[in-house]
Amino acid sequence: MTGRPGRTGRSGSQAGAGDLLELVRSGRAVTRGALQQATGLSRATVGQRLDRLFRAGWLREGAGGPVDSPLGGRPSITLEFDGSHAVVLAADLDTRHARAAVLSLTGEILAEHAGPLAVEDGPDAVLAELGRWFGELLTKAGHAGEEACGIGLAVPGPVDSETGLVVQPPIMPGWDGYDIRGRLSRAFAEHTGAPAVPVLVDNDANLMAYGEQRTGHPGCTAFVLVKVSTGIGAGVVVDGSIYRGADGGAGDIGHIRVGADALCRCGSYGCLAAVASGGAVARRLAASGVPAASGSDVRDLLAAGHPQAAALAREAGRQVGDVLATVVTLLNPAVLMIAGDLAGTPFLTGLRELLYQRALPRSTAHLEVLTSRLGDRAGLIGAGAMVVEHLYAPERAEERLSQMGV
Ligand SMILES: [Zn+2]
Repeated sequence: MTGRPGRTGRSGSQAGAGDLLELVRSGRAVTRGALQQATGLSRATVGQRLDRLFRAGWLREGAGGPVDSPLGGRPSITLEFDGSHAVVLAADLDTRHARAAVLSLTGEILAEHAGPLAVEDGPDAVLAELGRWFGELLTKAGHAGEEACGIGLAVPGPVDSETGLVVQPPIMPGWDGYDIRGRLSRAFAEHTGAPAVPVLVDNDANLMAYGEQRTGHPGCTAFVLVKVSTGIGAGVVVDGSIYRGADGGAGDIGHIRVGADALCRCGSYGCLAAVASGGAVARRLAASGVPAASGSDVRDLLAAGHPQAAALAREAGRQVGDVLATVVTLLNPAVLMIAGDLAGTPFLTGLRELLYQRALPRSTAHLEVLTSRLGDRAGLIGAGAMVVEHLYAPERAEERLSQMGV
């Protein structure tokens, strides 16, 4: 799957309705004249292809009123993607809780639910429960199951996005190779009575990075997000597309050995996540008598200004910063965003200390180190966007228009 900035649709007489939709959605051409200019198609052909998009309910005339035409003459009506003709479902699974939502095609959250859900209960139980949540959320948002066009799921493990299978996940027992798409699609159909819809699965840090980059930093061509909660993972967005590596393993920095002797949830000793995650900080607090069992407990303590939690978060930031010096040197990102339970001042202070000390000045000269803007919703927004980009990509859009008979 490719993201918007890097995608080049067909031009000239080959440009179809899907390509015109892409030009409008990306903002590269939003009037009939601009579409003619961008594609070289005649006015009549552009008109015919736009008619298909209007009949499908995918395009509408913009509320902004006429703008000057690039071809001169009368001002032209602007066109825009009609994000209200369908909805998308998204869910973000963490190790012990999950969040799910109904979103518009343009990324607004229409109904949302968060609650306890443990990945260790296994895929069958977890995905059945998500199907139930989706049914309730659609009702709450006032939409029928038939209006949902697809489901996006974020999971806390490495994913082969071509197959939607999680691959040797360190902290998702029973999920390795499980048919997530099929099970979630069936659960959705059971709880809505609607026909099955496409399900897309990706790693949570990837989708958080995608959501944040698209909504807050659309011009950033090299974007890295690091999620520090129960575990630690990173998502990389290059030229508007998620960079997944050869088989979906890119960004899984939580299990790099940093030399300590702490036991990690993956079964190895000395992983970064075993010493510098929210879970690791919670264990250290608990060992010294402060009640904390999880990353979210640490988040609450940090929010309350607990001095020992702040000191441990800063030390965790230093350990993550040491690893990120290599990441930043390799990828030279413009934005390094920190998300998750530990994302706050103490952690960032520690991270900056080590990052700027270890990385070359050249690779950090224009680097912005920021905290998450979308917070707990980043994964949902990214999962929804992944589904929309997949379903409305030029060739897929063309195929769907034909199936709809328009
Ligand atoms: Zn590990």
